[in-house]
Amino acid sequence: MERRTTVVLYPGLGVGHLVPMVELAKVFLQHGLAVTVALVKPPLESLEFSATVARFAAANPSINFHVLPPPPPAAPVDSGSDGTSAPPIVRMLRFLKAMNTPLRNFLRSIPSVQALIVDMFCTDGLDVASELRLPVGTLNTNIYIPMTKIVIENIDRMGDSIVTSFGQLGDSIIHFPGVPPFKASALPSNILDDGEACRLIIQTYYRLQESGGILVNTFESLEARALHALKDGLCVPGRVTPPVYCVGPLVSGGSTGAKDHDCLRWLDVQPDNSVVLLSFGSLGTFRKTQLEEIVIGLQKSGQRFLWVVRSPRIDGTNLIEPLAEPDLDVLLPAGFMEATKGRGLVAKSWAPQVEVLRHRATGAFVTHCGWNSILEGITAGVPLLCWPLYAEQRVNKVFVTEEMKLGEEVAGYDGEVVDAKEVEAKVRWLMESEGGQALRRRVAVAKGEASEALEEGGSSHAAFVKFVDDLIGMQASSVMVKP
Ligand code: UDP
Repeated sequence: MERRTTVVLYPGLGVGHLVPMVELAKVFLQHGLAVTVALVKPPLESLEFSATVARFAAANPSINFHVLPPPPPAAPVDSGSDGTSAPPIVRMLRFLKAMNTPLRNFLRSIPSVQALIVDMFCTDGLDVASELRLPVGTLNTNIYIPMTKIVIENIDRMGDSIVTSFGQLGDSIIHFPGVPPFKASALPSNILDDGEACRLIIQTYYRLQESGGILVNTFESLEARALHALKDGLCVPGRVTPPVYCVGPLVSGGSTGAKDHDCLRWLDVQPDNSVVLLSFGSLGTFRKTQLEEIVIGLQKSGQRFLWVVRSPRIDGTNLIEPLAEPDLDVLLPAGFMEATKGRGLVAKSWAPQVEVLRHRATGAFVTHCGWNSILEGITAGVPLLCWPLYAEQRVNKVFVTEEMKLGEEVAGYDGEVVDAKEVEAKVRWLMESEGGQALRRRVAVAKGEASEALEEGGSSHAAFVKFVDDLIGMQASSVMVKP
């Protein structure tokens, strides 16, 4: 592949999808290819989007970031089939489908583009790749290992009149090869809802099989059994199974551009491994009652903490609703900040999570189990307390606690509220007990394995080299349509 060859990476919506794409872009650059990241601006104006892009662009000058224009206004993305407002995930997937027009125009404008990599939620972009005869790969979190199985096992129920009904499975136990058994209710809520959301998500996942390669943001030893099952099981009669490449962990090493943040300065004066980080992804929020339980739990634990607090959502389920800055005086009980001064810090809305996790003072991570957060914790050698909130996080929690054994569950996360006693008990357990120390040692081993996987000759490095080779093969068999 010649030096000028450009690979376009298409991360879709959400910080959690942008972060690993930017890391993948860096790997392409290291292998001598030019990269452009084609960004989708969220339909609702979000300052966070602009700030995040600006941060990433400043920290990664070799990567070309291009914000795509919005889709044609005719695209109906907001209303449901019955005229009511469609669920947020449906709106998101429709919006991403409508983005095919600006994506196509953009790809046509770059003569050197030779390949497209799309995020797992952007598989409609495969149509654009096919029109332009571009080789295409998809980038996935780990979740596709079980999710793809779900799709395949229900393939006969696919199509226009889909009757999939995961919701009716209730608490029955699901058995997939390669992952621990888990309750059906741990599946993403959008899958459990039998409506259009479920149908669209399954179609989106299903289309993964049309791509030339499935890149997974994981490393072989972390998910050895699941990987084996995926490689063996991802075959549908009459279809060619795309190769699977585990190229992770794709974790930012300072590429978010936050070096001199208040949180880091505060950590600088804390003892080694002494601080519990509580951070719940780019979208996680709690109601005031839950915040109050956390407050009491943290106070009683006596441990140091750094806690990222967001404003509660007005509509608790609408994850795309933009949030105002939290008013900590209103949200947190009077006297809390004063009582914990010196040993606790509350960050409003956002903290540079990777940098915080890698700081020598950070000793534990209470996480919502977003896949990026899990990898960021593991690669920093920080043990996890798992408190899943939305999307696929409940299943991720099962992997982390039962398969990888790199985290402990915070009980009650699936109920109304996790009470203060549980917060206190789990924080103390992790920071003070022999069980917590053993967990810390297991995470340290996984950290070493992650770094070995990325080294030259390591499994992820080798998988990426193989992917690039295969991409060249795919290019040779594609006839490029030049603008
Ligand atoms: N993140 C961050 N600071 C925060 C919250 C989140 O830097 O205060 C980053 C985090 O490091 C991760 C991403 O946002 O890279 C969140 O991705 P994840 O998959 O963990 O969760 P999602 O937001 O997609 O649910």
